[in-house]
This record gives sequence, structure tokens and C-alpha cells, in this order.
Amino acid sequence: MKNVLITGGSRGIGKECAYEFSKVGYRVFLNYNNSQADAEKIKNETGAVIVKADISKSDEVKEMADFIHKNYGKTDVIVNNAGIAQQKLFTDISESDWDRMFDVNIKGMFLVTKAFVKDMIANHSGNIINVSSMWGVTGGSCEVHYSASKAAVIGFTKALAKELGPSGIRVNCVAPGVIETEMNSHLSAEDLECLCGETPLERTGKPNEVAKAILFLAENDSSFITGQVINVDGGMVI
Ligand code: NAP
Repeated sequence: MKNVLITGGSRGIGKECAYEFSKVGYRVFLNYNNSQADAEKIKNETGAVIVKADISKSDEVKEMADFIHKNYGKTDVIVNNAGIAQQKLFTDISESDWDRMFDVNIKGMFLVTKAFVKDMIANHSGNIINVSSMWGVTGGSCEVHYSASKAAVIGFTKALAKELGPSGIRVNCVAPGVIETEMNSHLSAEDLECLCGETPLERTGKPNEVAKAILFLAENDSSFITGQVINVDGGMVI
């Protein structure tokens, strides 16, 4: 049985990843931070092992990694999905807004990957899938800190793919467009209509459409793909 760690697995895209990976036989380590009830529900439905940790805190990530290593051994796939967003004018972004964005969206990815990658290197196999955003590719107005952190995810992915390729480890990234999760619950019907109008497929995406792309990148069907950014955005970025 293969093991997958999904960060931010309690809601949205991460939650759908938990269902998709479970369906094809993975043992899922589902990381969450605040949404314990949601995580418990997924555990009951899929048999996932749930692990609480704020991925921006090195001591909590270490505790999570130690728990998983001790009880289950190696992790074959890491889905670095946990993330936060915030909409603010650039002039209103505070230093603490900036730091929190980078602590969760990119430092968290660094801490989690570092805590699990040694086994992958030792086994000469592994797969890492990171979640960026179309705003990391194009830049989004009123989301400078979010866009910058998601652009960093792309740089992280490409550099790590080059470094870890010779160790038999693939590293890829998905860049979702507008996906129907709580992260977008602030958008008005008018905003959504406008965003759909800019999307060739003329609709928003479902979180399981992103999860299926992530599963593809984790599986052997994508065995010659590494260091890539796969846009899952209805054609918004072409
Ligand atoms: P969401 O519904 O808001 O869920 C976010 C998830 O991240 C939750 O499970 C949350 O866990 C977890 N999380 C947040 N901070 C965390 C932390 N410090 N430590 C551990 N877990 C943490 O968001 P989503 O839409 O599914 O987004 C998932 C990823 O896709 C994010 O990286 C996001 O930037 C990216 N993305 C989303 C969209 C979109 O349109 N929705 C578009 C592009 C990219 P708890 O609730 O347990 O705290």
C-alpha cells in the first residue's frame, strides 16, 4: 500500500484529494490545522489517518513527521496543498499579513517537504505535488502577497525537480483557477460571473477536478513529467 500525506486535507481541494487517493487504495495521512470536525468526518468515511499540525510551525511539523514515521514508515507521495489567501490593496498589506502568507504558503511547504523527503531520497522514489495558483503565474491585483507566495511555489517546484530528479523523485505543481471552495466564499455573484466570463470554459472549477489532476501527477501515468506547472483553470491562463 502506498502512503500519501495531504496537507490542508480537511476542506476544499485537499479534502477531495483525500477521497480521490483513498478510492485508488492509498493510505492517506490527512493533515489539518483548525477544522478537526471536518477531518474526523473524512477519517470516518475514508479511513484516513488524521494529524493536526500548523504547517508554518517547525515543531508541529516535526511532531507530525515523527508520528507518521514511527507508526507507518515511509511516505511515498506528498501533496503540499495547505494554503491561505487574502484580498487587500498593496498599500494595506501589513508586515504581519505578508509574513503569515509566506509562513503558510511557502515556508510550510519547505518544512513539510524537508521533514519527509529523506526517506524518498533513501528509497530512490517519491512524488511531490505542490499547489500554486493561476495568480502565481499571472499575478493578481489586490493579492500581491498571495501571488508572490504562489510564484515562489513554482520556483520551489522547478528547482526541487532538478535537484531530486537524479534521486528518482518527481516534483510537479498544479495552478488552479477559480475553484468552488471556502477560499472563494467572499466572491459576490457578480464577481463570479465576471470571472466565468474571462474563462474559456465559462464556469468555475470543482475541487475534485483539481484533485484528479493531482492524482494523475502522483501516479505512473505521468511517469515522464517533472518540474511542470499544470494549469487547472478552465483555460483562464493560456
Ligand atoms: P480552503 O477551502 O480554504 O482550505 C484550506 C485548507 O488549508 C484547509 O484544510 C486548512 O485547514 C488548510 N490550512 C490553512 N492553513 C494551514 C496551516 N497553517 N496548517 C495546516 N493546514 C492549513 O482552500 P482551498 O481552496 O481548498 O485551497 C487549497 C489550496 O489551493 C491552497 O493552497 C490555495 O491557495 C490553492 N488554490 C485555491 C484556489 C481556489 O480557487 N479555491 C485557486 C488557486 C489555488 P484547517 O481548516 O484545518 O485549518
